[in-house]
Formats: sequence, C-alpha cells, structure tokens
Amino acid sequence: MIQVTKTFLPPQEEYQAILQRAWNTNWITNRGVLVKELEGALKNYLGISKILATANGTLPLQIAIKALGLTGEIITTPFSYVATTSSIVWEGCSPVFVDIHPDYLTIDETKIEAAITPKTTAILATHVFGNPCHVEAIQAIADAYGLKVIYDGAHAFGVTYKGQSIFNYGDLSTCSFHATKLFHTGEGGALFTNSEALYNTLFYHHNFGHQGQESFQGLGINAKMNELQAAMGLAVLPYIEGILETRCNIVRAYNVAFKDMILKPLKLRVDTQWNYSYYPVIFETEAQLLNVKLALNAKHIYPRRYFYPSLNNLPYVTKQNTPISESISNRILCLPLFHGHLDDGMTKIIEIVKAKLC
Ligand SMILES: *Cc1c(COP(=O)(O)O)cnc(C)c1O
Repeated sequence: MIQVTKTFLPPQEEYQAILQRAWNTNWITNRGVLVKELEGALKNYLGISKILATANGTLPLQIAIKALGLTGEIITTPFSYVATTSSIVWEGCSPVFVDIHPDYLTIDETKIEAAITPKTTAILATHVFGNPCHVEAIQAIADAYGLKVIYDGAHAFGVTYKGQSIFNYGDLSTCSFHATKLFHTGEGGALFTNSEALYNTLFYHHNFGHQGQESFQGLGINAKMNELQAAMGLAVLPYIEGILETRCNIVRAYNVAFKDMILKPLKLRVDTQWNYSYYPVIFETEAQLLNVKLALNAKHIYPRRYFYPSLNNLPYVTKQNTPISESISNRILCLPLFHGHLDDGMTKIIEIVKAKLC
C-alpha cells in the first residue's frame, strides 16, 4: 500500500537517547531543555530570529488572531486546509474569501483590495504546498489599508524566498510539525515573528497568560510543545537534508514523466527555493481525476484530493463565490511523495497515470 505521504521515523535508538535526557531530569513538559534546544536548532536551520514551539499547527493560527487583536473580517484563501478558515471562525471573526491564482494556487493578490471593507482587520493567507504568496504585493496592500498579515506556513518548512526564510514575511507566520508534514514532531507546530513585542504577547498567550508563577499578563491558552515532541523533532532534524534530496528526486521523475501530458504541475513563484512538500497535479476535468484515482486505488495506491472541498463551501461560513478555487479543488490531486527512493511503487504510479490519460 502506498499512501500520499509516509512519516519519516528516525532510528528508534536515536529518539530514545534524546528521550533519556528527559528521563534524567524527570521533566517532560513546561519548556524543558529539549523544547529550547529544538527552538535553537530550528532558528539556525531556518534562518529566523524568533520561534515559539507549539503543540500543533492550528493553535498558532488562533493565537496569532488573538495576539494581533483582530476582529470583524479577515481576508483569506478558500484553497487551504480547513484549519486556516476554522481558526478565523473559532476566534469570532468572519472569513472573507478572495479567489486564488490558477497557476500559483495562492491567494490572488490583485483581488484583495476589492474585498476590503471598513470591517477588515487582516489578511490570513497560505503558502500553499510551500509555494510563497506574493508577499510584496500583500504587504503593500496591508500597509496602505492598515491591515495585519498572517501567513499559514504549515507547508512551508525550509522554503526561502528571495534568499531568506519565508517565515520572515508578514507580521507573523505559523508552521505545522504534524506527522504528515515535511518536518515533524508527531504533532507540533510553531509561531514566527521578528517583533519582540509580538513575540512576548504570543508567549504568554501560549502558556495560560502566565507571567511567572503567581501573576498573569492577560488571557491565555495552553499551546505548549512538550519534551517528547521536541525529542522527535531533534531526532528528525539531522535527516532533513537527506529527506529533501530523496523527495527532490521523486519530484524530478514525476516532472519528466508528465512533461508532455495534459496534467498541470504547480507553478512555483520565481526566487523560491522550494521544499518538495507535495506533488499536486491539476487535471482538465474532474472525471479524469476520478478515473486516475480509481485506477490507483485499485492497485492500493492512495493519492489525496488536497484541497477538497474549497473552503468557501464549509457549512459554517457565509456562502461566497470563488470559482477558480472551486474549479481547481475539483480537479487537483496530490500524488504520493515522501522520503525514500524512486522504487517500483513510484514507477507504477507514473505508468497508471499515463495509461489512464493517453
Ligand atoms: C496541516 C495544516 C494545518 C494544521 O496543522 P496541525 O499541526 O495539523 O494542527 C494548518 N494549515 C494548513 C495549510 C495545513 O496543511
């Protein structure tokens, strides 16, 4: 069986050796040495100035909205994972969907201004499949209208844009370290900002609002990463270059195999150093997609319809029209992609896709 992704598991003895340090101190949460060490290692690896490790990649979105004091309407993308929209609604704000660019799949920055109203307080956009949003245009709009900018960077681990970490753009960015993501801690995530003041607010929000043991700076929740999660991250991180390399090889093989076909691959923004996080292909019709999916499933190969459905169709949002996102959602399929070699499985996937489309 081949799934759309496969979690990279480090050698168990290496994970255990790191866990042993938590056993030695009898300290498994509340920002112990391992969480701090992981934060330091990630700062180095990613080239960012501030990071706050969290329990998953969804709480950071909610905390971001809270910390920036957002109310009213938040302009967002309908083409993302449900957490992007649900976080907005969970925080009592209204998502206003702006359609996506048909090739880049990120929010169409040229359509943002038309969606701004007196109630708009922020833009929350996703670097879809690790492809950067048009961060310059978005920042210019935000500056002109006094809006905050949050990036859901759940897919964007290790991506650089114009030579620096994609997490350096916007007021703040988030990432997910879920087991299905490129870099993982089982469950986990992070917040990134370059503002000292905002970092302090994020910090107390993620730890019940504590300011020391006996006083509270303000409202908080519990979004702390624990030591067991951090140990996994520390065990995975040394392998990240190898993971990227093997993923890159598979992406190249897919690209070559599908070069002259009707399938449309993801178009990366220029000046992007990508992370090979997903391999989406866009079909001409949904019928073609279903045909290929069925043929793959018959051989126990399970690609995923990311992202489907388009989020403007969620039952708890006001119905809004974003035809490009809906059309792409109906026709996009992510093919299996993970660390490992281009074995028989990948070759079979290529064969089946070709056979079904020719
Ligand atoms: C995975 C994902 C999330 C949520 O991350 P979790 O760690 O699973 O909570 C948020 N946004 C996007 C775009 C994602 O793909």
